[in-house]
Amino acid sequence: MSVLVTGGAGYIGSHTVAELVSHGEQVVVVDNLTTGHREAVLDGVPFYDCDIRESEQMRKIIRQHEVDSVIHFAANSLVGESVQNPLKYYENNVGATTRLLSVMVETGVKRIVFSSTAAVYGEPERMPIDERDRKTPTNPYGETKLAIEKMMDWSYEAYGLQSVRLRYFNAAGAHPDLPIGEDHNPETHLIPIILQTALGQREQVSIFGSDYPTEDGTCVRDYIHVMDLASAHRLAVERLRSGQVTAESYNLGNGNGFSVQTVIEVARKVTEIAIPAEKADRRAGDPAVLVASSNEAKRALNWNPQFDDLETMVATAWKWHKSHPAGYAGN
Ligand code: UDP
Repeated sequence: MSVLVTGGAGYIGSHTVAELVSHGEQVVVVDNLTTGHREAVLDGVPFYDCDIRESEQMRKIIRQHEVDSVIHFAANSLVGESVQNPLKYYENNVGATTRLLSVMVETGVKRIVFSSTAAVYGEPERMPIDERDRKTPTNPYGETKLAIEKMMDWSYEAYGLQSVRLRYFNAAGAHPDLPIGEDHNPETHLIPIILQTALGQREQVSIFGSDYPTEDGTCVRDYIHVMDLASAHRLAVERLRSGQVTAESYNLGNGNGFSVQTVIEVARKVTEIAIPAEKADRRAGDPAVLVASSNEAKRALNWNPQFDDLETMVATAWKWHKSHPAGYAGN
């Protein structure tokens, strides 16, 4: 019995693989390495450089490794790019997942944990955001993730395919012990950009918007440690195996919001470097505040985040960036 992790060479995928292995799970990874890194997958874990659309190969892998559950990360995940090129997102996210679910139905694998996103909510109607709140995505990335959640709802009705969809807020940090971390090209996320600036790789951090209706005028986000996301995925597999699941969605966040300005200040403290930052224009499509209510995930999954203070998130990310200034390319 093993867990198939698609996109297991990516940021959240690779940390989830490490978490599963450390809990004694048999894991098999499929990743086409478009954005993932082969080096991010632990030694000894079976790895296939394969696109999830290659149905024949996927069927073979599922049978050979006696896969009983899938954790599905493989996707494109850049909001800005999705606005520029929506069809790429429909093809690679909705299209590819349709193929994956078909193979699962054919091979009798009935459990899937899906990497969803806070972007399914769009402009929130209230704070903190609850799973039942209105879902009106404001970009194709969020639309494709919501479409997949709905496809999974119908697949439960039709084929008994059980799914747990995890809607992440802002993933942050790195594995505290293993040499894996965040490495995107191009990098768009706030914490890696701040730490690359600390390393002298960028001149300054641009603060996107300083006139938002928040305490210091900068955007507020709910940062959640990647190891806490990883443990939620492991617990979701356990819940699926317990047989209680139909088609469920949970927010994963800390319930605490931190402003861009606060994140920069915490990073200055952790790194002991006077990281330069300057005010810049707002970035299109950024809501002022995004904070999750994760009470449902805590209750249903027995999830208990362990790395929930911002300093720990930044410190683990700093350890990774300092030791791998060129990311995996420097290995
Ligand atoms: N942000 C910023 N400067 C940057 C990158 C991000 O001010 O160079 C802000 C961004 O506007 C948002 C927050 O930091 O309010 C988190 O952005 P990120 O891209 O990390 O995640 P998102 O919230 O888009 O998922």
